[in-house]
Amino acid sequence: MPELPEVETTCRGLAAVLEGRRLSHVEVRRPNMRIPFPKGLAGRMTGRAITRIARQAKYICMHLDDGQVALAHLGMSGRMAITQPTTAPGKHDHVVFDTEDGTRVLFNDPRRFGLLTLTTEEDLENHKLLARMGSDPLGNGFNAEVLSAALKGKGTTIKAALLDQRVVAGLGNIYVCEALFRAGISPRRKASSVSGKRSDRLVPVIKDVLTEAIAAGGSTLRDYAQPSGELGYFKFSWNVYGREGEPCSCDPDGKDGIVVKRIVQAGRSTFFCSRCQR
Ligand SMILES: [Zn+2]
Repeated sequence: MPELPEVETTCRGLAAVLEGRRLSHVEVRRPNMRIPFPKGLAGRMTGRAITRIARQAKYICMHLDDGQVALAHLGMSGRMAITQPTTAPGKHDHVVFDTEDGTRVLFNDPRRFGLLTLTTEEDLENHKLLARMGSDPLGNGFNAEVLSAALKGKGTTIKAALLDQRVVAGLGNIYVCEALFRAGISPRRKASSVSGKRSDRLVPVIKDVLTEAIAAGGSTLRDYAQPSGELGYFKFSWNVYGREGEPCSCDPDGKDGIVVKRIVQAGRSTFFCSRCQR
């Protein structure tokens, strides 16, 4: 599933080929993805120039020169591929964007949990898909004060709270596990007890782990010369995520028998070290 860093690198890849370009042809190849495409979507985008591509939480916002904003989400399996106008769209390429300078972008999504809809610059902030979302973890609005206020009085675990989009927008399971490890906070700790020094520690490590993943994605992006031109998926090495039973970095030789543990919280796997995280 594309997480925030993959969405960010997808935005950057798209910006490189779409910003400042005019869409000469847009084609919608089925009536819906997770939700129906708006009526006349292709016609409303064709002929418009893309002024800016920006990420908001896990949404890709394509700002058009007439004040419309195309809002895309990659869902579980969506991806954007940059190709040539001669590339025929395949079965799972649901939307085709062609620019007048000869780039074709295909929005591919086999499972169709992704979406593409239209709104306006004016309505973007209050759009039902984005309203009620907490701060973007990489935005200036996300700081220790905001986080501890959001956690105050929360009866859930810190793990569940950080996955709650109303607390912080777009932080996925992998990044929550890694950030809690780096901050030395147990995923089982009550959210309301994460305040003061603990919430001060958490904010910078959340930003760091996302920024490092984006940098890793950016470096794979630089050589995306592969024919598929697919954006956004890359490998990154984790401290705890997916490492159940492996020695923790606090016990590299395994002398103390300290290994990464996996538990299930609210149906999601949590990986952590019970010595490093309290
Ligand atoms: Zn450890």
